Amino acid sequence: MRTKIIIIGAGPTGLMAACQLARFDCDFIIIDQKAGPTRESRAMIVTPRSLEIYQQLGLLQDLLKKSKPIPDLSLFIDGRQRAGFNLAEAGKKLSAYPEFQAFEQFKNEQLLYRDLQDSGRQVIWNTAFKSLQQQENKVIVQALQTNGGTVMPVVFEADYLLACDGASSPVRHALQIDFRGGTYQNKFFVADAKINWQQSPKRIIATPARHNFCAFFPMYGDNAYRILGTLPKNFRNQTIKNFNALRPVICKAARLPMQIEHVNWFSIYQLHHRCVQNFRKGNCFLLGDAAHVHSPAGGQGMNTGLQDAHNLGWKLALVTRQQAGNPLLATYHAERYPFARWLLKFTDRLFQFMTGSSWLHHSLRKYGLPFFFERLSAKPAIREKIFRTLSQLWYSHPPGPATFQQTSQKIKFKNGERCPYLPVEIAGEVLSTYQLLGEPCFVLFCIGKQTDLAEMILAEEWLPQVKIINLPLDTGWREVGVEKDLMLLIRPDQFITLIADEISPELLRSYFGSFH
Ligand SMILES: Cc1cc2nc3c(=O)[nH]c(=O)nc-3n(C[C@H](O)[C@H](O)[C@H](O)COP(=O)(O)OP(=O)(O)OC[C@H]3O[C@@H](n4cnc5c(N)ncnc54)[C@H](O)[C@@H]3O)c2cc1C
Repeated sequence: MRTKIIIIGAGPTGLMAACQLARFDCDFIIIDQKAGPTRESRAMIVTPRSLEIYQQLGLLQDLLKKSKPIPDLSLFIDGRQRAGFNLAEAGKKLSAYPEFQAFEQFKNEQLLYRDLQDSGRQVIWNTAFKSLQQQENKVIVQALQTNGGTVMPVVFEADYLLACDGASSPVRHALQIDFRGGTYQNKFFVADAKINWQQSPKRIIATPARHNFCAFFPMYGDNAYRILGTLPKNFRNQTIKNFNALRPVICKAARLPMQIEHVNWFSIYQLHHRCVQNFRKGNCFLLGDAAHVHSPAGGQGMNTGLQDAHNLGWKLALVTRQQAGNPLLATYHAERYPFARWLLKFTDRLFQFMTGSSWLHHSLRKYGLPFFFERLSAKPAIREKIFRTLSQLWYSHPPGPATFQQTSQKIKFKNGERCPYLPVEIAGEVLSTYQLLGEPCFVLFCIGKQTDLAEMILAEEWLPQVKIINLPLDTGWREVGVEKDLMLLIRPDQFITLIADEISPELLRSYFGSFH
């Protein structure tokens, strides 16, 4: 089978990549060795940044019907609440969706899979990647397809390959790419259960104890919770087959009156923190867990895979339409690798801090954290910083070849950042900037100036699709430092890529020219 792009793996990352390519009407194939989407809950938190992506795909309302908002975070030590933090409150000026949503991995996969099917595409299930050869401008993939009792070899030929095949990525092995990092010593557990207790269902409760850590995440459904935590050292060599063995461990960490009932699923596993050195080898790209794995501290794993796919999808679409070339593709590694490196460090520090069993760790958690939270709840700037970090809204790309900034104004945003979230007035209706970024194209906001130049620019044959939106220079823009006319070009993945006081065909031509 011949295609432009082959995606290996239909987990959340692969399905998001497929949905992105489908939006741009690309020619691609997606295969997975499983018979259908995951049924296990696995990852469960969707961050505000991922919610913005779902909104762009038109899937947010469906997600919100089956998710549960989690606005609060609380810290309990020795059975007493020592600190609390309202996440949603801290983020309400930064995003239209400041609430983290409990929406399990299998629901993410179902939602994306349905979107893919609605676009007339299918996953080729029961098809396992086995090996590959990279030739000058193509990748040849050997796979095995299971159909009933028979197994058939299949060969795919593509211009590009996306490895979205998870932490043990057979593609990464075939490409002989190192997965550097380490493995945490203590074992880790997750369980989905019903809990009868007096706690509010709207908050995440973290209960670090001296020798193990436990946290409770509310899920969709009455009294439904995800419980996760580390096991004390003495469990390292034990095999746990029954959830009952975990009950005393959970109760000892939480020290809260509770009855754990109806355990739907539980799993014990070993955690790793690893990352590849380059997200690309030749025409093969690594995304999601195939490129980086880390502890679930902060609930960032699945979200990072979704965002890798969002970053790469439109770039590949332009390349397959011959509107861009290698320089644009090179920005995938340049933009996503620094985030993965940061994430590994951040989750590692958070994990060590919350689970470390030394006297120092324990004292810092018991006395330092409540003090820190108390002080910080009085300071909006610090609250906002915590929200920005956990929500994944903070990240801006390092300056790359395809970023232009030519303004004399002292604006509060810069190239490489995600589009500012602001109210804008269009024909008497107040919308948010994000409601204007739904289409699979670049958007040029002409703030202040009504641009007629638009038609002239669009007439240029070689330009990829740019949608021009004239906006008044109103209070929202003034609050972020815009004082006079400004042109803001937003990429299809909602990041700012060009800022200029004056727009001209030459500037756009040289901007898009840098893609080749
Ligand atoms: C028990 C458990 C609990 C977790 N809890 C959390 C959590 O609370 N929060 C969090 O953020 N993350 C959590 N994670 C991690 C989270 O599940 C991953 O970050 C996320 O699944 C990554 O998505 P992915 O699509 O990159 O990889 P995966 O979800 O692993 O998907 C990879 C896909 O590739 C397919 N595949 C593999 N090999 C082949 C092959 N040879 N040929 C074809 N297809 C192949 C697989 O069948 C699979 O569908 C958890 C993981 C586990 C295992």
